[in-house]
Amino acid sequence: MELVIREWNREQIELIADGAPLPLLNAIRRYSLAKVPIYAIDEVMIIVNTSAMFDEILAHRLGMVPLISEESLDRLMSIDPDICAKCSESTEKPSTEICEKCYVHMILEAEADNSEVTVYSGNIKSEDPYIKPAYDNIPIVILAPGQRISLELRARVGRGLEHAKWSPSNVAIVRHIPNISIDKSLCNLCGKCIDVCPKKVLSMGNKEVVVNNIYECTICRQCVYSCSLKAINILIDENRNILRIESSGSLKPETIVRISAEILLNELNTISKFVEQWKIGVDK
Ligand code: SF4
Ligand code: SF4
Repeated sequence: MELVIREWNREQIELIADGAPLPLLNAIRRYSLAKVPIYAIDEVMIIVNTSAMFDEILAHRLGMVPLISEESLDRLMSIDPDICAKCSESTEKPSTEICEKCYVHMILEAEADNSEVTVYSGNIKSEDPYIKPAYDNIPIVILAPGQRISLELRARVGRGLEHAKWSPSNVAIVRHIPNISIDKSLCNLCGKCIDVCPKKVLSMGNKEVVVNNIYECTICRQCVYSCSLKAINILIDENRNILRIESSGSLKPETIVRISAEILLNELNTISKFVEQWKIGVDK
């Protein structure tokens, strides 16, 4: 298996995976959406809300604000999110030791005096300097003159399989890298396939149609449909794929890929050990 980074910045990562089976990449993709734990606001205590927005909508908007969880990765990974998931709904609270690692208190207070005020995610004050809104410019609510909000917030650890607000990935996709072939003996260089390609993958070279950037191809097959001579063909290799992860801002994209793979590996190890133990028992 060969991995090459095609694109990498603080918001997204795109990996070209040559020789990686599609199910493996798809498992990492799904784990990046559902299994990687992060912090999100889960409880909102409304002390004052004289804004036009209902309490429930306000709480929902706050829950969807991505919180930076990167700096607290060790703490995050030392907590069992399954225990924390029961916390909000059950009277049986986890031990104080777990809660201290899990919960983070925040407050949001704002008031409009004589003019309208837009309250942003940047107005949220967190008691933990490492767990705070990933972006300061997410609008929460607009206060008309005389309106006020005073809220106490509690963020906790969770995973995307519980609610989308705990998903560190906004976008997680796997797509094939196609193999485009042009039969020169059939092609009359009409250029129709070049004109219809929405991604400008094809161009006219020296008396032949050439493939410029295969990684941009979305396999829409417009080029194939446009060729009446059936000179162009697209083949799919199941083992050549691109994995793309876009972060919500809570974790770095490379961290999301790494933690997804680690969680998957741990679960596979558990299965492997179980089967090994079971086999030993049968052999006895
Ligand atoms: S549409 Fe077909 S015949 Fe025309 S340039 Fe493309 S491959 Fe060649
Ligand atoms: S499949 Fe679509 S994107 Fe790919 S080369 Fe053909 S027209 Fe372009």
